[in-house]
Amino acid sequence: MWPLGALSEPQLRVFVVPHSHMDVGWLHTVQESMQVYVTNVYNSVVEELTLEKKRRFIVVEQEYFRLWWDGVTSDTQKGQVHQLVAEGRLEFVLGGQVMHDEAVTHFDDQILQLTEGHGFLYETFGVRPQFSWQVDPFGASSTTPTLFALAGFNAHVISRIDYNLKEAMQDTRELQFVWRGSRSLSAQQEIFTHVLDQFSYCSEGFNWDGEAIFPGTSPNDMYLQMQIPVTKDNIQIFTSLLVRSVLTRATWFRTPHVLWPWGCDRQFFNASLQFANMDIIMDYINSEASELSLSVEYATLGDYFRAVHSDQVSWQVRDHRDFLPYSSDMHHAWTGFYASRSGLKGLARRASSLLYAGESMFTRYVLSAPHRFLDPAWGLQQLQQLRWAVSEVQHHDAITGTHVPRVGDMFVEHLSTGMEGVHKLMASIIQDRSPAHSGPEPGGHFAVVYNPLAWTVTTIITLTVGFPNVSITDESGHPVLAQVQPSKEMPSAYDLYVLTTIPGLSYRHYSIRPRRSSQEKTGEPEPFVAKTMQFGGRLRRSARQVGGSLVPVNNDCYIVFLDLDTNLMHSVWERQSNRKVYMTQQFMEYHTNSDVRKGPVSDNYVFTPSGAAEPAWEAVRMEIVEGPLVTEIRQYFHRKVNDSEPTFTIYSRLARSPQGSDGELLCHRIEQEYRVGPLELNREAILRTSTKLNTGRVLHSDNNGYQVQRRPYRDYKSNTIARNYYPMVQSAFIQSRHSRLVLLSEQAHGVSSQGNGQVEVMLHRRLWNNDEWALHDGLTLNDSSVVHPVLWLLLGSRALTSGLRQRSRLALQHRPVVMLRQLSEIVPRGSGSRWQEAVTLPSRVHLQILSIPGWKYSSNHTEHLRTLQKDRKHEPKADLRRVLLRLQHLYEVDQDPVLSRPVTVNLRSVLGGLGSVVSVEERSLTGTWDVNEMRRWTWSTRDPHHHRGPGSLVLIWPRVPSQTPALPLRPV
Ligand SMILES: [Zn+2]
Repeated sequence: MWPLGALSEPQLRVFVVPHSHMDVGWLHTVQESMQVYVTNVYNSVVEELTLEKKRRFIVVEQEYFRLWWDGVTSDTQKGQVHQLVAEGRLEFVLGGQVMHDEAVTHFDDQILQLTEGHGFLYETFGVRPQFSWQVDPFGASSTTPTLFALAGFNAHVISRIDYNLKEAMQDTRELQFVWRGSRSLSAQQEIFTHVLDQFSYCSEGFNWDGEAIFPGTSPNDMYLQMQIPVTKDNIQIFTSLLVRSVLTRATWFRTPHVLWPWGCDRQFFNASLQFANMDIIMDYINSEASELSLSVEYATLGDYFRAVHSDQVSWQVRDHRDFLPYSSDMHHAWTGFYASRSGLKGLARRASSLLYAGESMFTRYVLSAPHRFLDPAWGLQQLQQLRWAVSEVQHHDAITGTHVPRVGDMFVEHLSTGMEGVHKLMASIIQDRSPAHSGPEPGGHFAVVYNPLAWTVTTIITLTVGFPNVSITDESGHPVLAQVQPSKEMPSAYDLYVLTTIPGLSYRHYSIRPRRSSQEKTGEPEPFVAKTMQFGGRLRRSARQVGGSLVPVNNDCYIVFLDLDTNLMHSVWERQSNRKVYMTQQFMEYHTNSDVRKGPVSDNYVFTPSGAAEPAWEAVRMEIVEGPLVTEIRQYFHRKVNDSEPTFTIYSRLARSPQGSDGELLCHRIEQEYRVGPLELNREAILRTSTKLNTGRVLHSDNNGYQVQRRPYRDYKSNTIARNYYPMVQSAFIQSRHSRLVLLSEQAHGVSSQGNGQVEVMLHRRLWNNDEWALHDGLTLNDSSVVHPVLWLLLGSRALTSGLRQRSRLALQHRPVVMLRQLSEIVPRGSGSRWQEAVTLPSRVHLQILSIPGWKYSSNHTEHLRTLQKDRKHEPKADLRRVLLRLQHLYEVDQDPVLSRPVTVNLRSVLGGLGSVVSVEERSLTGTWDVNEMRRWTWSTRDPHHHRGPGSLVLIWPRVPSQTPALPLRPV
């Protein structure tokens, strides 16, 4: 520790860390970026580092690095990179495919994208990244430090946090602290965290290569941004600029080490110019080191943190609170992107869920039995393609919706291609297991339904059929409880609801046949045809007395009352606690300014409403479609009284399952699907749910589907509405003393509680303004699409809902996958049950992943390094017998007296059907460390209750099968 104001006493050590911030898609596609600058960055940096021993560089985004490594490098370059990495001069930091967004990404996907990059780095170089570099994401979540600790990182770097807070942390020299990101893991998985100071990751005035020239940009741009070369005449100017910046920064930190990131967006594509000029400045400063009382050196991030770590400082501890939302100044609250490009946010999550299902399906298929037609190597390739695409879209300009439309098309294309491949893989597995058997039966379908969760699930699946008279039977030939009704959006089609109960990681088979005539008596029960009740339009402005005439819609858990005077929801009675909660819902819009000369505007990033939200409709129509399985309430909101098409629709569904079936989760949810759009320009659409719960405007919302954060409403000098917006990745709730209303979502949205008892979800945004920078780059949000988000509403006591919330969110995230085939190929009866044994985990434990990663390296580190040294060119084959298993305890340590207790899991049951286990290893989060060999740095803190213990997120890495030990699992 060095005292303030004593700068001349100990010498300052300045760590100049060369880096290039390379967005994996923002204003340009990945391919354009590769062509225009990324390739040059790696080519020229490797050359410059090889020329001069003292130079350093940090490499961040693995998607780019891998494209370069696999597609561009020569053998000589590969050798040079191996050498530089071995000498610690070229350092991989973060090591994920991308620098993931922290607000709107799901933690499963964060882990995926890290695992992807880390697997490649370990396989290729035998190295494991130890430092993060999250310098551009728009706000910092507390999930990230926890995951990075579990992955074996020693320090974490963030930058974009609230401007007020950063200023205060600079003043009190608290930009560095030890972060205990998880309430449950606490000190066990704490990590040293460094917040970049107000200069962030760019070093203005020290970039000599100018702007990368993409087609269509003027060459003037390049030279305008280009620094003049350093000469004898101007060296003083550069030197004093650098020294001044160093001295300013040094006062904000507690050790005499200054992290001086050198670079910016798309820098170092001409590394020769960069280093040649900087060498001169640094040599000059070092020649005056004693007068200036500081020295400068090229450094990696590791060099800097090793120096900080060696200082005997006792650090401040931060608890599990996050740094969201992010405001960069008074007028810019970065809370708009929580809902920008809502369609892409939905697609990204659907792709992730499909991948999850495909992984376990493939693993159990490959390891369980001989495969007749399917080539496992091809199967793995399909999964790898989707892993890559899902990883890519986690980038902080991808799923955030902060890219230009052309780049959005690229993300969509990559996801769609990947999904198509995995669909093909799944179809091939089904085909392989149940080949065509008998003759054609025109018009019929054969449905295979796969439950990707490791519990038995009772739910309703929806099939769309072209005929109302159907007969549906299961794999034993028994008729199945079903309901048919006119499709909500396709006039000539019908929705067929089928009640299904599927054991964990198992399949059900259904045959759906048209009945030849409705009179034909087969003796079998037929699907019930639901009846529709229509309710005339109600005008918003002439809504009369409210609550005078109510229609109830009920199941065993809830009665939803609809008000016929308004056609809006009136209240919900929750049977278990016997409480009625007044609750109504409507669509509203925030209006935003479109002229930058008249004040701040909303854009892809920021949310700047002109005032409070206003109702976005004049009339609402209602239909109730009632059946024995599902009752659906359809509310159509018309923007104008005479609009023929509604702009907003809510389809609410209440399900009934027969007595005795395991339908607890199914009963305890009101499913709502919305149809929103197209919006008018400069509107930000929300669904506001207003209740009479006394919530004190306190909202709870999740970080990345992982932990819950408490969000009390705060008043600010400016931008109060926007600064009270938070991301909802998977769940949010409001509560009174007795009742809690939980919202579960299928994709990320913005969420806020602007009034007592209220919760609102931002569903869609459409914006256009005259900001020249945005127009020049085409970075606008004129999103005229129609989106179909889904929310599940859970209402009940705190105890009931905290028991249901976790499993329900997973039930929504990983709904059964339905694969339809023409009924020309029929499976033999009873074949389904013989397919594979079911897996049932304790209800507090979630199967986070079961996959075959396809790693090619030995799990013994020493052996792996030996192989790497011996023969770098040897390309080993993917190990298809090695399985990655992650289990998650679903409850926080103090959440519930019973549910939070440790659980013992019998691995034999999880790995059932995979053959015999040869060995089981507990590995770090991304699989690259044997946890027994992983030694993370410890930091002394000002917390007296400091303790350490073993990690608890268990990652097991079995080779195929012999004895399976039982592993204790602690809450995470
Ligand atoms: Zn960026």
